[in-house]
This record gives sequence, C-alpha cells and structure tokens, in this order.
Amino acid sequence: MHCPFCRNADSRVIDSRTADDGSAIRRRRECTACHRRFTTIETSSLSVVKRSGVVEPFSREKVVAGVRKACQGRPVSDDDLALLAQQVEETVRAAGAAQINAHEVGLAILGPLRELDEVAYLRFASVYSAFTSLEDFETAITALRAERPLDPPSAAPADDDSASVEASEPASH
Ligand SMILES: [Zn+2]
Repeated sequence: MHCPFCRNADSRVIDSRTADDGSAIRRRRECTACHRRFTTIETSSLSVVKRSGVVEPFSREKVVAGVRKACQGRPVSDDDLALLAQQVEETVRAAGAAQINAHEVGLAILGPLRELDEVAYLRFASVYSAFTSLEDFETAITALRAERPLDPPSAAPADDDSASVEASEPASH
C-alpha cells in the first residue's frame, strides 16, 4: 500500500481494529517517509458456491432473506435476523476458506436459528435438510427436546432458594 501523499511504499501500522461485523480490518498507518497518516481497510473476499455451481459473493442479505421466510409469523425481529446473519458470517469466515459451499452456510444458520426460534428452526431445517416424511420432523423434534434440559438446571437454584426461605419461615414463628 503506497502512501497516498508521497507514494512511498513503506508505512508503519499505528492502530488496527476489526470492524464491528468482523468482515474488515481498519489499519491506521503512518508513512515512513513523509510521516503523514492514512487509513487502509482490508476485507477478505468470501464466495459461496451454490448447488448449481454458480459462485457468488457471500451476502448477509441473502442469509436474512432465506431465514426470514422460515420466521414468518414468529416473534423474530429484524435485529434478530441481522444478528443471526452476523453470527453466520463469523462462523463461515472463521473456517478460513475463501470459498465455501452453500451447504456450509446452511449448516452455520441452523445453530443460531435454533436458539432464536425453534419453530423457525424446524421450518428452515425441513427445507434445508430436505425432510421428506413426518419421521424426519419427529427426529428433529426429538433432538430439540433432548437438548432442552438446559432449562431445569438454571431453574434449580431458584427452587433451592425458595425452599430455604420456606424452611426458615416456620422457624421464626
Ligand atoms: Zn508519505
């Protein structure tokens, strides 16, 4: 990167930060010749190979559009969708490949979508994984239920507290 002022080829990085969405790095540089400062923005390209073989740039908008359909009538906001698309982009970029299959984007959507809304997740998974029968839904729902026991452990401490309060009250009377 040449200095935009004097065209010197050498510069020193003063500060570098990742953009909020993780898709770019901004670097503040100082020219080693004229000492003027400038900013460079580095983005890494990420392309998606569709099933048809067509290659197109990764797009959060497309992720949102695909997920939005599954979220119709569900309590999912545009902010939720934007955050999900960001998580998906971070996941697929973290793999480090410059080119990924559309399938991998779908896989990266499943996790955060399940946390967002289980019904939307089932709808999306049914299309994405090409569910062909009720059994496919049953399997997916069983898997969802199996991973649910997240709730009781977090509720348990509250139960313990109320139990100890109840136990201490009779003693004070
Ligand atoms: Zn310069």
